[in-house]
Amino acid sequence: MTDLILIVEDEERLARLVADYLTAAGYGTQILADGTLVADWVRANQPTLVLLDLMLPGRDGLDLCRDLRAFSPVPIIMTTARVEEIDRLLGLELGADDYVCKPYSPRELVARVKAVLRRTQAATGAQPGGETSALTLDASTLRVHWRGRAIELTAVEFSLLATLHAAPGRIFSRERLMERIYRDHRVVSDRTIDSHVKKLRRKLDDLAPEQELIHSVYGVGYRYEEGAETALPKNPA
Ligand code: CA
Repeated sequence: MTDLILIVEDEERLARLVADYLTAAGYGTQILADGTLVADWVRANQPTLVLLDLMLPGRDGLDLCRDLRAFSPVPIIMTTARVEEIDRLLGLELGADDYVCKPYSPRELVARVKAVLRRTQAATGAQPGGETSALTLDASTLRVHWRGRAIELTAVEFSLLATLHAAPGRIFSRERLMERIYRDHRVVSDRTIDSHVKKLRRKLDDLAPEQELIHSVYGVGYRYEEGAETALPKNPA
């Protein structure tokens, strides 16, 4: 089945240009210029990904992103005309999967679409290395299961956890995590990652209070590990 990309964009020429590039890359496309039509359309057509412009007539991208997240885990790439807007959007935790600043090249946008789809589809994949993890991630619902219990994460938290969980024990620097989670890492500060990790840990604490799953590596970054000592650093053998 062809992946269907919904382009929510009121600049008609830009929307058509993006649609042409996506079509050439093998995607099906639909353009909507009016924000009020989007939620119903997504419900009815279940697109693979949504490109969402921030400034729209009818209902703006910010509200739309919240509307969509209330019922759908569909990957969302938000586009905005102001680069300084991105940091504010990140702070709002809308649950978009990526942010792209205008003007963008359609080629770059197609690359972003592919990257987001790779990332979100990889998150549904199996544990690598044949090791059994007690943690199960479901990208279609953004839910995380642990020994019969489950919690729901934001898309950013989910993507953060999926990255760490895919390589248990490996240390990821904040910069690496930013690259994985936001292609626009130049506009995201270290503290943004820290604040997402903090929220994620709080949720995981509720899910698995008996142990710490995300470990801070002082001055370096974070790693995922199950069943490790949490209170004290281990002595070297
Ligand atoms: Ca616009």
